[in-house]
Amino acid sequence: MLRTDQLTWTEYVEKLKEEPIVFLPVGAHEQHGPHLPMGTDAILATKMAEAVAAGLQGLVLPTISYGYKSQARSGGGQTFVGTTSLDGQTLIATTQDIVRELARHGVRRLVVLDGHFENQWFLTEGIELAQRELQASGGAMDIVRTEYWDFCPEAVLDTVFEGEFPGYDLEHAALIETSMMLYWQPELVRVDSIPQNDQASFATFDTYPQDGRGGPASGVLAPAKGASGAKGQLIIESTITAITQALGAHFQANS
Ligand SMILES: [Zn+2]
Repeated sequence: MLRTDQLTWTEYVEKLKEEPIVFLPVGAHEQHGPHLPMGTDAILATKMAEAVAAGLQGLVLPTISYGYKSQARSGGGQTFVGTTSLDGQTLIATTQDIVRELARHGVRRLVVLDGHFENQWFLTEGIELAQRELQASGGAMDIVRTEYWDFCPEAVLDTVFEGEFPGYDLEHAALIETSMMLYWQPELVRVDSIPQNDQASFATFDTYPQDGRGGPASGVLAPAKGASGAKGQLIIESTITAITQALGAHFQANS
């Protein structure tokens, strides 16, 4: 695995001759409770992209470290100090700009690997607009957009949650992310500050302007207290295997 920000442009040109799969990790700068750093989504997306790229001889671009606005029911919302978010149009334009530049370089295969729930439709729109441009000029790129958590095998979730998985939207700064960080970046986890709260319960609608009511004050939407590095390892290794297999098969079929 190579990071483009550590290559010279001449090395990059050489590497592109192998038609590598290029990875764009996308995260957020968002509160993740009193125990995880605000860069958690960006850190996890970057590490996941690097691990998968290593198995596929890929290249990893610099991470988009800001994301679309936190929503109350999936990230605690925009009322937390520290959460620093982009307008949808900014994320769309950023994604479109990067795809356009990669096409100019001759990149043919791209994976946009998302680590922040709220990003997905804005990444999708950036990709769609870029593809429309590329198709109009006679060349499309083979682009995959994915959220890494979709690949965690159900059997692993059953083991880790003892059959009580709350769903990914509430898994904000909770057991999965805390366990992954305990495995990958334990020095960044404030173990003594892991909150003891139970699962948040929300109305089945969103309200605007966001007022922060209804969500836990800690910013953690589901229990994190059972998190461990061992669970993180299980989640991470099984997810890396599954993504690597799926992407390998996709790009082989399309080559
Ligand atoms: Zn997160």
